[in-house]
Amino acid sequence: MPTTNRSATKQEYDCEICQDKGFYQPPDQQKVVRCRCSKDKQLKKKLRSARIPARFKESRLANFEFKATSHKQAYQHALVLVNRIDRFIQNNWGLYLQGPPSQGKTKLQASIINELCVDDDYLGVMVNVRELLSDLKDAIGEGRLNEMLRAIGENKIIALNDLTGGKRPTDSFTEFERGIIYRLVDAVYEKSKTMIITAKYNYEWLQDKLGQDVRDRIQEMCGQSVVMKGYNWRRKAGEKRDQVVSKLVDRL
Ligand SMILES: [Zn+2]
Repeated sequence: MPTTNRSATKQEYDCEICQDKGFYQPPDQQKVVRCRCSKDKQLKKKLRSARIPARFKESRLANFEFKATSHKQAYQHALVLVNRIDRFIQNNWGLYLQGPPSQGKTKLQASIINELCVDDDYLGVMVNVRELLSDLKDAIGEGRLNEMLRAIGENKIIALNDLTGGKRPTDSFTEFERGIIYRLVDAVYEKSKTMIITAKYNYEWLQDKLGQDVRDRIQEMCGQSVVMKGYNWRRKAGEKRDQVVSKLVDRL
């Protein structure tokens, strides 16, 4: 247990409870327990690193395949953003990739982050909105919500994956979710940052579900949404699988 005097402790450790060990023994217990700060630290680290999902580690604009005209247009918008990123950041310009599932929106978003934040040195993060909301729900219980939002705000490039996360057209966000998304969008707004959004639905849906404040801010930053549609990667992959497997079946 810590026996050092308090002022020395304060200077040396971020967490006075566990002295940054991540665990401690409460005075009234015999067991060592996990300190809540270790969970916070993991989350904070998550919110400050690029966090590309493993399956998109190799995704780059140079290897992005487009099978539909709309995919090519989206790719061109992504290319302009990457090539002129300083101008985009300076003007607080972003990109809104919209469309049905399985069009390659996340892959394109991950390619942008890989180019800028992995291959280059821009500080950025890519977060899945559904996961983020659940992480932040935990943080609010521990009184750390502001800190977490600040950690996200430290990034120059903020990629929100699937802003319409898991919702069907008729589903609503909870009051908590609406509040968090508003604060998130407001933290990026007017601060020399770039926001890259993927979403299933358009601005009218956003306005209906998240309010005009959120819609207007995103639209000012991202302009018209760039729609990706016309070629479903997952279903095409399933068809290719069927072709191979049915040949194997025929050979039996
Ligand atoms: Zn601690």
